[in-house]
Amino acid sequence: MSAKFTPLVSQLPATTPFVGPETLERRRGAPFRIRIGANESAFGASPKVRAALTAELERAAWYCDPEHFDLRSALARLHGIERENLVIGEGIDGLLGLVVRASVALGEAVVTSAGAYPTFNYHVNGYGGRLVFVPYDAQCRNDVEALVAAARREGARLLYLANPDNPSGTFLAADAVAFALDALPADCLLVLDEAYAEFAPAGALAPLDAADPRLIRLRTFSKAHGLAGMRVGYGIATPDVVAAFDKIRLHFGVGRLSQVAALAALGDADFAAGVVRAVAAGRRDYEALAARLGLATIASQTNFVAFDLGAAERSQRMVALLDERGVFVRRPGVAPLDRFVRITVGTPEERAGLADALPDALAAL
Ligand SMILES: *Cc1c(COP(=O)(O)O)cnc(C)c1O
Repeated sequence: MSAKFTPLVSQLPATTPFVGPETLERRRGAPFRIRIGANESAFGASPKVRAALTAELERAAWYCDPEHFDLRSALARLHGIERENLVIGEGIDGLLGLVVRASVALGEAVVTSAGAYPTFNYHVNGYGGRLVFVPYDAQCRNDVEALVAAARREGARLLYLANPDNPSGTFLAADAVAFALDALPADCLLVLDEAYAEFAPAGALAPLDAADPRLIRLRTFSKAHGLAGMRVGYGIATPDVVAAFDKIRLHFGVGRLSQVAALAALGDADFAAGVVRAVAAGRRDYEALAARLGLATIASQTNFVAFDLGAAERSQRMVALLDERGVFVRRPGVAPLDRFVRITVGTPEERAGLADALPDALAAL
């Protein structure tokens, strides 16, 4: 124990939610040939983003607009809500930290699925909250009834739900989300992580009600818009919630270039729609590949597909075998999803590379 740190930080284990592919490349001593493990967009960003970034480069010496006025204005128009309903953050990952810091006191409970998106857990641990885990159901979906029951039992402050979900790729229809909202304890906020909103079936997302005080929705420019490296996400919530975040957020956290890139990406809806179509085609490719190899997949509403290797040891081994073949993929760590390997939809060339490597790796399994 060191006197230099708070008791909370002193006792935290040294964990990172994700070991980055760069770290893995340094360990393996060579770059990956095919990077399809982190659900980054293989289809890049709009050419309008490139033009906007080039033009803004000469102003990189200036601080950003700490109120994100232009980006929030454009998002308000897009969603038919007010600027006061919007908070911008350093990706959903950054916003999750604000949500936890604003809502969870030491020892208070939060509920999430066991094996769900790990950055949420990382923040909960960092702020001294108490994680309550609920297993995915047998179809690898978030078990909404059990999640809500746990939130009621534990007096939880937050219920985290990713929809569409990572790492399963499954999607809950709007009525399941409505059920969760209605059944939650009065002082429990539903944190609806919609990182993959653009990939959900058209019209199937829960209706957007920015006046609902029980809900914060989180969206990102990292997936369909192809800007994961720029770190821009946003939350949609009531003005009260947004005002609370304004008291604790890092005002220059989302830099000038990032704001400009996000704004330009929003201005090219056709590009994002093209990415969504390309990803859907890629998912079909992956499903066909899996079927040829006798592997099951989970129907996905995201930019990745989970391939069923049948057992946790086999999926773990598969990640290593693909690594040996220069292919970066990841696997979920918790049952029932730990028997899967999660593979991001790549470009047609990357998919062809996977189609080469996977049968070979399977033979070696
Ligand atoms: C990719 C992903 C994120 C990360 O989003 P950023 O905006 O890049 O921080 C958050 N939640 C889920 C479920 C994701 O898959």
